[in-house]
Amino acid sequence: MIQFYPFEVVPLPYLYDSLEPYINMETMFFHHSKHLAAYVDNLNTLLAPYPEYHEWTLDRLILENKELPEEIRLGVWNNAGGVYNHQLYFAGMTPNPTQLQGKLKDALLLDFETWESFYETFFQMALKIFGSGNLWLAADERGKLVILPLPNQDTPLPKGLTPILVLDVWEHAYYLEYQNLRAEYVRCWFHIVNWTEAERRYEHALLHNLLCQKEQPSTPPADDIN
Ligand code: MN
Repeated sequence: MIQFYPFEVVPLPYLYDSLEPYINMETMFFHHSKHLAAYVDNLNTLLAPYPEYHEWTLDRLILENKELPEEIRLGVWNNAGGVYNHQLYFAGMTPNPTQLQGKLKDALLLDFETWESFYETFFQMALKIFGSGNLWLAADERGKLVILPLPNQDTPLPKGLTPILVLDVWEHAYYLEYQNLRAEYVRCWFHIVNWTEAERRYEHALLHNLLCQKEQPSTPPADDIN
């Protein structure tokens, strides 16, 4: 979905209470209708006086952030990231059981050897994030998967990585239900991951990267250089 100013709070693809018992209604309600809404409002307020950026997408506001006037640069970075990351986080969960499958499953088993090894690595990294941030599963331009912790509302986009799945470990994502027990929250999150959506994103990334490679001019054969 291409989005630009004025940004809107994209509705959840499920009801606030439908992720129970893993994430309760109160948490989902505040997270979506208060926290995400605040990022959307802040971003719109920052951009309102600057019509020249009203056709910039979320990705562009993040990737070309340095082009923005200094007085809104950091605010746009944080709030565009907040909108981008929360949309991915909410779309990455579902009340309907899904299974890791397809090319994403193949890549995950290639890069982490076993499901258990992936799970344990991801789980431990989620516990280690200090302060506010997100844990990402992202793909590089060759489709290799990486698990990447990022602080605040940073995104993997400037690193040239395509986000596949994101786990929000800001306290607002779990404190109402789990208080300080982040490990419980992470275990529960694994029950509601939308692997179908993750697989869709991964396949899309592979296709996109393939097309980009084709568009690049081929380097001349070695014979032609001299
Ligand atoms: Mn959040």
